[in-house]
Amino acid sequence: MTINQSGWKPSTPVKGPGDTGTVTGNRALMLEEPLIFELDAGESAGVDLPDVPQVTCRLGGLERSERIGLPGLTEPETVRHYTRLSRQNYGIDLGLFPLGSCTMKHNPRLNEKMARLPGFADIHPLAPKETVSGAIELINELAFWLIDLTGMHGLAMSPKAGAHGELCGLLCIRAALEARGDAREVVLVPESAHGTNPATAAFCGYRVENIPANSDGRVDLEALKERLGPDVAAVMITNPNTCGLFEPDMKAISEAVHAAGGLVYCDGANFNAIVGKVRPGDLGIDAMHINLHKTFSTPHGGGGPGSGPVVLSEALSPFGPIPYTARYADGSVKLIEEEEAANEHPSSFGRMTAFHGQMGMFTRALTYILSHGADGLKQVAEDAVLNANYILRSLEDVLDAPFAHSGPCMHEAIFSDRGFADGFTTLDLAKALIDEGFHPMTMYFPLVVHGAMLVEPTETESKAALDQFIAALRHVAERARAGDEALKSAPIHAPRRRLDETLAARKPIVAYRQPAPDGAESPTRSEVGDR
Ligand SMILES: *Cc1c(COP(=O)(O)O)cnc(C)c1O
Repeated sequence: MTINQSGWKPSTPVKGPGDTGTVTGNRALMLEEPLIFELDAGESAGVDLPDVPQVTCRLGGLERSERIGLPGLTEPETVRHYTRLSRQNYGIDLGLFPLGSCTMKHNPRLNEKMARLPGFADIHPLAPKETVSGAIELINELAFWLIDLTGMHGLAMSPKAGAHGELCGLLCIRAALEARGDAREVVLVPESAHGTNPATAAFCGYRVENIPANSDGRVDLEALKERLGPDVAAVMITNPNTCGLFEPDMKAISEAVHAAGGLVYCDGANFNAIVGKVRPGDLGIDAMHINLHKTFSTPHGGGGPGSGPVVLSEALSPFGPIPYTARYADGSVKLIEEEEAANEHPSSFGRMTAFHGQMGMFTRALTYILSHGADGLKQVAEDAVLNANYILRSLEDVLDAPFAHSGPCMHEAIFSDRGFADGFTTLDLAKALIDEGFHPMTMYFPLVVHGAMLVEPTETESKAALDQFIAALRHVAERARAGDEALKSAPIHAPRRRLDETLAARKPIVAYRQPAPDGAESPTRSEVGDR
């Protein structure tokens, strides 16, 4: 095995003020890493293959005449490539990840241990039901907990993310309205809703109308009531909302919507703020998704798939999708699929996924629930809210907190860019936070707050970690208020500076193209390069 380094070229390193750059492009022990195709060293391979024997080709001229185009790398080169890339990914196992609304919290290792039990990890979704009764029992047990915690009636376990759960809920609502011959066209969405809400409603063919927020950052109840009518199919409300505030009028909202013949969808992605404290079923909600990958600590982002079960009211349960599990009087648990549904669940709108949902996430979420117990889950909500309020109150003297007057926040604290020196933005502050070793918070969302910064610390951070984060945020906020010009070049310590994120999002280049033979720069690098 030979290690071919012929592909190495000196780079032109990015430089910050007072930074001489490096000839390797590496920055301290953070190593620069090209694309694997750019590392291609020709005929190298991770294995020694015997010479190809001389055979007469029988492909009639269809044999390959060129290299297949896969990078040729040895095993150590390949291992290093992926290990270096993995180090460039900030994750919850590295440090505090303050993304508001995303609930990036510690994923207990016990969850991982349980998910890897061969009886759960190694089964096949097409295995005969009789051979996987333990897995079906687990799904049903988790369903029981979710129904119990939400005070709802039925459940769809199969949706694979929050947004997928929203789709499931709206399909239930549409099926229920169609069943009573009531073709309504409009879905009302408050300004403070998560962006997936209007997107889902539009995807389902509804016309979306906005409901304004009041000066407290909450739904304007009077404006909502005024707009209700025979054309409104549903209202989608995020509670707690994306300003990090509880909607205290939820019950009045549900009553008004029901009285006008509509249904209530609640975006329950932020259930972690109220789990064990408030039951959405008591607030008149008809459908709500729960992000297992947020509230119940299953990994997300690069760490694993999401899972978005949907709890349903008594009115909507008959329309929920298959498959689902049900426990019978004799204690047995049955998986209801098409065959059984014809008799037991004839109004179901159908099926959303090929199989039963994210089994690995179900295992993790149930482990989390059982290891916390009912009292522990309540503590989760209390600590998440306490941590967010600690951040809010520790920074409101340097960062404008537009809803601080509305009382305590829930699981996340929101700030605006008011008070920054002229020309300084939320983006500058977020980039400077990278230099301090923190992934930035959610920025410019929700839209109701100018230059919004939404911070969700979660309950799994210690006071020491919060204090360090607060110190970092305070420092960069003071620099933004003072108009420190150096802030505009941040990040200076990161491997990349300011990327053209709009171009990267609008014109992503997802396939590698060979550079032109004259040695011109590969478009992969130059088109989405440093600004
Ligand atoms: C995360 C989130 C969603 C979407 O969930 P996904 O699993 O990312 O699809 C919807 N609403 C709110 C309020 C969220 O925080």
